[in-house]
Amino acid sequence: EEKAQSGTVCTTCPYCGVGCGVLARSNGRGEITIKGDKAHPANEGRLCSKGSALGETTDLDDRLLAPVVNGAEADWDSALDLVAERFQATIAEHGPDSVAFYVSGQLLTEDYYVANKLMKGFIGSGNIDTNSRLCMASSVAGHKRAFGTDTVPGLYADLDEADVIVLVGSNLAWCHPVLYQRIAAAKKARPGMKVVNIDPRRTATSDIADTHLSIAPGGDVALFNGLLAEIAAQGAVDGDFVANHVSGFEAALDAANGTDLSVTGLSGEELAAFFHLWIGSEKVVTIYSQGVNQSSFGTDKVNAITNCHLATGRIGKPGMGPFSVTGQPNAMGGREVGGLANMLACHLDIENPEHRSAVREFWDAPTMPEVAGLKAVDMFRAVGEGRIKAIWVICTNPAVSLPDADGVRAAIEGCDFVVVSDITAQTDTAQLADVLLPATGWGEKDGTVTNSERCISRQRGVLPPPGQARHDWRIICDVAARMGWGAAFDYSGPAEIFREYAALSGIAGKLGRDFDISALAAISDRDFEAMAPFHWPLTETRQGGRFFGDGRFYTPDGKGRMLALEVKAPASMPSADYPFRLNTGRVRDHWHTMTRTAKSPRLSQHMAEPYLEVHPDDASRLGLLPATLAKVQSPQGSAVLRVVVTDRGRKGEVFAPIHWSGQNSATGRIDAVVTAITDPVSGQPDSKGAVVKVEPF
Ligand code: SF4
Repeated sequence: EEKAQSGTVCTTCPYCGVGCGVLARSNGRGEITIKGDKAHPANEGRLCSKGSALGETTDLDDRLLAPVVNGAEADWDSALDLVAERFQATIAEHGPDSVAFYVSGQLLTEDYYVANKLMKGFIGSGNIDTNSRLCMASSVAGHKRAFGTDTVPGLYADLDEADVIVLVGSNLAWCHPVLYQRIAAAKKARPGMKVVNIDPRRTATSDIADTHLSIAPGGDVALFNGLLAEIAAQGAVDGDFVANHVSGFEAALDAANGTDLSVTGLSGEELAAFFHLWIGSEKVVTIYSQGVNQSSFGTDKVNAITNCHLATGRIGKPGMGPFSVTGQPNAMGGREVGGLANMLACHLDIENPEHRSAVREFWDAPTMPEVAGLKAVDMFRAVGEGRIKAIWVICTNPAVSLPDADGVRAAIEGCDFVVVSDITAQTDTAQLADVLLPATGWGEKDGTVTNSERCISRQRGVLPPPGQARHDWRIICDVAARMGWGAAFDYSGPAEIFREYAALSGIAGKLGRDFDISALAAISDRDFEAMAPFHWPLTETRQGGRFFGDGRFYTPDGKGRMLALEVKAPASMPSADYPFRLNTGRVRDHWHTMTRTAKSPRLSQHMAEPYLEVHPDDASRLGLLPATLAKVQSPQGSAVLRVVVTDRGRKGEVFAPIHWSGQNSATGRIDAVVTAITDPVSGQPDSKGAVVKVEPF
């Protein structure tokens, strides 16, 4: 009551997967002030630089305020009619797989749900994929292989209780700052807690680490295979847990024994000390992020980690477990409602006939694809080859963020019909659209998101939709209605959509799936409005909490699966022509392609322009001086970046941030350089694996 009167709204930060609660207060003139929400379990009042600058990013400069058709402002009816007609005509002539939706981990779960329902249940194709494919698809695939479902076993509270935290391929200090702060606070309270940072680069995260292991790129499977072999050699296997709750132990151990650990690039002393620490401390949390996922064998890396936790039974209990931290605010919500091309809503599988028919019946859908659709990189390949003839890009900027960005841009440019829904027309992708649809953004939208620890929170609007902007769920439903499916997409608002997928999750629960929030299937609009953050699932036997500590998994035999993992070489190896490995990642104060964070001068001060980190020995050999420009070139494309000479990285390796685009800089678009190689299991791009040459510009 007090909050409503003061104009303060409890909402959730739209950036990373920590999912911090935010109190946003409007002054009634389009400006808002921001504070951390002490009542939110994810952050207990903390915010990082990006979250606390949210109030500086809600102005209407560069906002798309009306539909645009072929470069001219149009009214909603004619724009929506055109979208529906062109999609219908394309489907009629070339079949349902000739169209696609490419969506975003920035969407709210309700937006995601209706987009997925339209493509899979009504258009009848699996061709809906998301930029979450770039951030955590390998974790999804690894979870499904090990646990039978895409389940994050633990909670953030485990970080407070762990004795050892291992951070693998994660610059948590910049990419998930509030979780980093949480670990820092836990370490201060319990100085005996140890932190190990495994990353080819020394980053801001290394500051908190007792040990930084500068692993060679691609060395992770060997490292965790080595750990598994050592766990067995030292008698640290949890025999009861493995005998009763785990399959594949012997084969995984056979594959691990004799692994050549030299590929890790770590010394015998470093390896022995790491193995000793991990094995000697029962409460170990292994956090991993894009350094694991963005790889040509990212799924194997995930399972090399889950193998060690399964072998020791260190999973789903306080202070222990493998922990995937997701990049985006709602990558998890998208996964829950089937935003990936190979999933159905509520963690049901598209290729499982029983799951398929349950969803089809629930939706009363006219059709349902029997196979997965195209994953992100393959989707844009199909656009380029003319197999996909109409694409709708919602809330993301693939012409900058996908690998082979020049190829993706050319594919979109050559596509027969391109629709883009976004808050701005000023992205590389939006500028290629035939139809631009103005969407509401953070601060205006209402719905839910799920963070990295399965906590579902409300995002709430504090500002009115500007101009003619509409909510994404509404735009998608309006198109669905024009395609003839109005009855199935006739929602009064996000609460009604939430009720529908909550009800579907009950069916999923009966089919043995983990995601079950059906206890909320009859939630009133009023209670949805007031809904406090909660962790799923919400079944009679389990209310939030951890998974798998009881030894119950979601595989057909109910056991957690260990995988026999071969050590593979990275898909691209440095050569005389391309002697450097290119690593890519985030900076602290920018987000994705900067459509929002670039509005804040405070955030832009941290890193003012795109840059290339080069080791001092390489810089001197190449004649590169600090602050000069370097051209970085792969077989795929090139970029020009400001040189930063630093020994943070290893010799022979360079690093560049991902954020800058053709709009902000003519040359800093690093994904033009990244090759479009993907993990064969997850389809996630190998965004840290390109080989390049570097020369003064
Ligand atoms: Fe937002 Fe992530 Fe920062 Fe929290 S840690 S305020 S969710 S960017």
